[in-house]
Amino acid sequence: MKERRLVFEKSRKGRVAVAPPVVDVPHVEPRELIPEELIREDIEGFPELSELDVIRHYTGLATLNFGVDTGFYPLGSCTMKYNPRIDEDVAALEGFTMLHPYQPEECCQGALRLMHELSTYLCEIGGMDALTLQPSAGAQGELCGLLVLVAYFRDRGSKRKKIIIPDTAHGTNPASSALAGFSVVEIGSSKNGIIEPADVERLMDEDTAGIMLTNPNTLGLFEENIKEIASIVHSKGGFVYCDGANLNALMGIARLGEMGVDLVQFNLHKTFATPHGGGGPGSGPLGVKRELAPYLPVPWVEKEGSRYRLVTDAPKSIGRCRAFYGNFLVMVKAYAYIRRMGREGLKEASKMAILNANYIKERLKEDFHLPYPQTCMHECVFSDRYQQAHGVTTMDMAKRLMDYGFHPPTVYFPLVVRGAIMVEPTETESPETIDSFIEAMKSIAREVRESPDVLKGAPHNAPVKRVDEVMASRRPRVRWQPFSDNG
Ligand SMILES: *Cc1c(COP(=O)(O)O)cnc(C)c1O
Repeated sequence: MKERRLVFEKSRKGRVAVAPPVVDVPHVEPRELIPEELIREDIEGFPELSELDVIRHYTGLATLNFGVDTGFYPLGSCTMKYNPRIDEDVAALEGFTMLHPYQPEECCQGALRLMHELSTYLCEIGGMDALTLQPSAGAQGELCGLLVLVAYFRDRGSKRKKIIIPDTAHGTNPASSALAGFSVVEIGSSKNGIIEPADVERLMDEDTAGIMLTNPNTLGLFEENIKEIASIVHSKGGFVYCDGANLNALMGIARLGEMGVDLVQFNLHKTFATPHGGGGPGSGPLGVKRELAPYLPVPWVEKEGSRYRLVTDAPKSIGRCRAFYGNFLVMVKAYAYIRRMGREGLKEASKMAILNANYIKERLKEDFHLPYPQTCMHECVFSDRYQQAHGVTTMDMAKRLMDYGFHPPTVYFPLVVRGAIMVEPTETESPETIDSFIEAMKSIAREVRESPDVLKGAPHNAPVKRVDEVMASRRPRVRWQPFSDNG
């Protein structure tokens, strides 16, 4: 039975963790330094515990965590993959961790070289000409890209007010667009789950800055018409932005730049070896085609002969989008990852991610409705259509999966699929793990037919049982309040 009492409830009057001996050397009493009115004898309700109590309490809490290091985490559109520890080791080298951001350029040539080379690699992977490493996350990379477009049009004395975004887009796309001052024109996907050129033709005009799409899109499908779509957008003077958050279906295989994409952000914390999901630092570099390069945020790194320097004097730049240069240690991990994988390794990772997703799709398609049955890329999307007849929903099944020891997939996204279950296995899982996930899903499908009630109360074995999803997000109570009546 896992310990779940609060630290306050374990408190025993007078119990202490550390009892230092009385100081017997000359010293200044704290009382002589601290004003009288700031001193208190007691903190009401403060827990009193032994050292062992404290250690066990927090170690116990840590074992309640679920992460990629403890189990399979097939969260679609999130690329929850295992990130090799060697990249952490490299990022922990003192030469990197002890750098000061204001260190003179001549003292940090290695760091600048790493940033320059990483930019080159990402440009190569995405088919872009120039890149900023500054954005701290995918969403910030998107915003930067859109601000670059605003600056580009302003520079030409025009102001385009609209941007076209597919109905399958990640929520950050319309949000970033609105933040950059665009109004969003939604484009529906066809019955095949992808965008049709004719629809783009109809919506694209000279008041529209371009289209913001995702490829593969969030249904895990390759936007097959992307070249045609790009030429329509370009012919009206617009640009193609591709949300490159999840690049492990394309890297090493196909380059977005060659498909007509003009801007793309990379989520280093999804595809390139930085773990994410815990709110830690991310990195969302933005790559652009040559025409847009002058507008990128400063500073960027340039190579002159054998030296590297930070460029800050760029009159057309949109300016900074964060302090200093971006989350440097995340760049180090991505650099180490790319160097170690090499072109062939990255390609192999993409192929495995695609193979794993298609394997799951094929093996589960009899048990779960597949709204788009064609070959998928790195993720596949099911729905709860077959289970609805038994009164069971996607939410019930997601909760039940926790009892089987798996993190639930992404649910109810993308919005175009009712009751969506979006599975992204990533390239790092073994066939055995994937098979055991498939068996768990099949077992749940059986339970739906034979004993649906067991799903209604799930999860039964998780430390926290079924929560009220709406209240948990609208009015989260993450702090125990000792002196109010809601504890
Ligand atoms: C994760 C994701 C984003 C947002 O990236 P953040 O780093 O969380 O801001 C945008 N688009 C897609 C498709 C994503 O999967």
